[in-house]
Amino acid sequence: MDCIFCKIVKGDIPSNKVYEDDTVLAFHDIAPQMPVHVIVIPKTHIESAAEITAENSAVISHVFEVIAKIAKDLGLDNGFRVINNCGEDGGQTVKHIHFHILGGEKLGEKLVK
Ligand code: 5GP
Ligand code: ZN
Repeated sequence: MDCIFCKIVKGDIPSNKVYEDDTVLAFHDIAPQMPVHVIVIPKTHIESAAEITAENSAVISHVFEVIAKIAKDLGLDNGFRVINNCGEDGGQTVKHIHFHILGGEKLGEKLVK
């Protein structure tokens, strides 16, 4: 399958890793939009948030435990934003579900645009 994030999981594409365990990987975004911009993914290929089911949601729950740990490790004590872009209208460019951790300075107050 031609999936950039699956290739990162396999090590075929290098990444600057922040966290890794058996089911979840986190790495710095290649084009950071904030001082801290980390991508957190399940290692298993789930296309988007629209594909979360009772069968695969445990790893998504674990993703959020990992997000809390990374935020602590990176010193985001004053807060941060987690973003998931889903599908065409949601602006998802990589079709492997991922969560952006954005922080390191105060984010804009608007949710979109
Ligand atoms: P999306 O727009 O799909 O929510 O976010 C995809 C994100 O993945 C973008 O912020 C983009 O910069 C990042 N990205 C795309 N390709 C790579 C890559 O090869 N390595 C890393 N570290 N980030 C990538
Ligand atoms: Zn994938």
